[in-house]
Amino acid sequence: MTKCSILGFPRIGASRELKKTVEAYWKKLISDDELADACRHLRNRHWHLQQDAGIDHIPSNDFSMYDQVLDTIAMVGAVPERYNFQDETVDYATYFAMARGNDNAHAMEMTKWFDTNYHYIVPEFESGQQFKLSTTKIFDEFTEAKSLGIMTRPVLLGPISFLMLGKTKDESIEPVDLIEKILPVYKEVLEKLALLGAQWVQIDEPILALDLSDKVIEAFSVAYKDILAMQQRPKICLATYFGSIEDKLPWLTRLSFEMIHLDLVRGPAQLDWIINNWPESMAVSMGLINGRNIWAADLNDCLGKINTVIEKLGSDNVIISSSCSLLHCPVDLDFEDKLDPTIKARLSFARQKLSEIKLLADAAADDCTETIQAQLDANQQMHNRNRDNKTVNNPEVADRLKNLYPEMFDRKQPFIDRKVIQKRFLNLPILPTTTIGSFPQTSDIRKVRAGFKNGSVSQDNYRLAMQDEIQKVITFQEAVDLDVLVHGEPERNDMVEYFAQFLQGFTFTANGWVQSYGSRCVKPPVIFGDVSRPKPMTVQWAKYAQSLTDKYVKGMLTGPVTMLQWSFVREDKPRSETAFQIALAIRDEVHDLQEAGIKIIQIDEPALREGVPLRKADWQQYFDWAIKSFRLSASAVDDQTQIHTHMCYSDFNDIIAHIADLDADVISIEASRSDIELLDVFAEFDYPNEIGPGVYDIHSPRIPPVQEIYDRIAAMLKVLKPDQLWINPDCGLKTRDWPETEAALANMVLAAKSIRQEMPLLS
Ligand code: GLN
Ligand code: ZN
Repeated sequence: MTKCSILGFPRIGASRELKKTVEAYWKKLISDDELADACRHLRNRHWHLQQDAGIDHIPSNDFSMYDQVLDTIAMVGAVPERYNFQDETVDYATYFAMARGNDNAHAMEMTKWFDTNYHYIVPEFESGQQFKLSTTKIFDEFTEAKSLGIMTRPVLLGPISFLMLGKTKDESIEPVDLIEKILPVYKEVLEKLALLGAQWVQIDEPILALDLSDKVIEAFSVAYKDILAMQQRPKICLATYFGSIEDKLPWLTRLSFEMIHLDLVRGPAQLDWIINNWPESMAVSMGLINGRNIWAADLNDCLGKINTVIEKLGSDNVIISSSCSLLHCPVDLDFEDKLDPTIKARLSFARQKLSEIKLLADAAADDCTETIQAQLDANQQMHNRNRDNKTVNNPEVADRLKNLYPEMFDRKQPFIDRKVIQKRFLNLPILPTTTIGSFPQTSDIRKVRAGFKNGSVSQDNYRLAMQDEIQKVITFQEAVDLDVLVHGEPERNDMVEYFAQFLQGFTFTANGWVQSYGSRCVKPPVIFGDVSRPKPMTVQWAKYAQSLTDKYVKGMLTGPVTMLQWSFVREDKPRSETAFQIALAIRDEVHDLQEAGIKIIQIDEPALREGVPLRKADWQQYFDWAIKSFRLSASAVDDQTQIHTHMCYSDFNDIIAHIADLDADVISIEASRSDIELLDVFAEFDYPNEIGPGVYDIHSPRIPPVQEIYDRIAAMLKVLKPDQLWINPDCGLKTRDWPETEAALANMVLAAKSIRQEMPLLS
């Protein structure tokens, strides 16, 4: 019989129980014991789900109260000094202090887990860094499952990935230099697991999917030779995911792991390598069921792949698995009772993926029974029906895409000429001041929005409430004397969901939550079919706002790459094609805004950076379609209409040339938290268009003094020309309160005015 596994199960719970429990604990509403109990309960349920589904290698230690990297930090005792950790084991207080900070010490940094929307806690290493086994979690969870009669395969984040995901404070050492120090802890863990009776362990080394230096590869080989030579250890499944590791397989398969897991969803070409080169002595774990998306797999296609591999290696050496941990997909489709049944039939959440995996393992066995065959046929028919469904594959959208022509991706004239036209047309002062779009979202606004959604607030009352808010925001901006105004986005709960609800081809789940970080979950919209825009989405609000003032009001839209990146994307079309469809929908909106008298339009692309592929070799292809889709959305207007874009991150050193390729007339970017690097970028790269690097940090309630903003602008003027610089905050203001927003923007305008006056002196 062919065996099957998954690399990890979502831990939040089908009703987000983990979020609720952990947050209750933070509020001191429940005790340590109650927290521990609730977590045990969740693990128990998840293990049983897997056991009932027939999964052979069930993971343990994939559970986490906050984050699996933080668990590893605790396990190896890499608690930064500021938390004053002196005990034998890391307790809850220290654990959560690292995640969220406490009165004495700020939280550890958090960043994106590879190219997912999950965020992990970044390990911090000091030059005299020591490691010591400091938690018993991995043993406890193994024993806990064992006492339930479930033999699990504990999951460990491997030492090389763990180190490489971290940062050293001291520039003289790189994280990977610490491998010799950390290895004894890993060996201690493996030995103890073996003593406890663990037959297998899964060691995750996702870092293998990146471009690695020779030094890292060498460290990897040395470390694992050492581990593999241990007398007493469980068998090791080395797990890789999020990309192909084909370039590393020649040396990696020479190390004598008992099993290697490959992500065949993200790296399908690895299949040939398995067929042609896989060593006889090693098992392969085929990651065929996508852990990153919510679509039911094409089971017959998967089965074909499995059978060719089994033919070569024999079924004992093949195990069927998820591409990566199921952490990145929602828990259970059974909870979705409001979804359109034709769409629901195409979906598969974590729990359903267990059944898909088991079915494939059973089907791969020689005795593929009639019931199994019937399920495979049903799956085939579902995919066929989908292909012919007009709401999925809309001929009008296809037609429009077929008829794109090169001029649709370009503004009529190049920026240097547009700049002259816009200057004449808009007549803005030098160093114009503006904001990024949203204003504080008070609880009153949220209540009205929620009421409108559940039907307790009428359409008219909703409109009036939003108009009131818009009026308030416009009045304030006029009073504080900003140059380019916004309507404040009161009608938007979320910058992607708001647009998605007006677009054909998008739908929403009731409970499709995915962990984003800690207790924070997101519920991305689902792109199930061709995207089109039946009617204008934002025009009435923009028009209303513009009617209240003689100053310009910026229209505010979300760009195609961000819409795509923050949704579950269909798999039956390339991402680029869906991006172009969304781009066309936004293009129509941009056009309609211009027709309605809006002269400045911002298309936000905060997710452009995170869509960048993990491997350099894939960058060009990504930027080709990503940039084209932005340009397609932005180029339907006259040259006098000014197109803005916004991105909220500052590490764009390596992508600045691509950002320039977007050819937005004006871009606002995050900058206030890392001034120096930013100035370096512009010292080196001659950014051609207009740009507003954020002059203050909106992530904090602190009110920036005038002088501080003034100094920042003066510093920017050293690398940017006065007639290309805009003055704006870092990002939208929706998470801030009104008093601090008023004070901060007033200071920003004062700083801009005073520097304008002194401009001749500065040059
Ligand atoms: N226009 C949006 C806002 O101001 C942009 C948000 C973002 O970039 N994340 O809130
Ligand atoms: Zn932003």
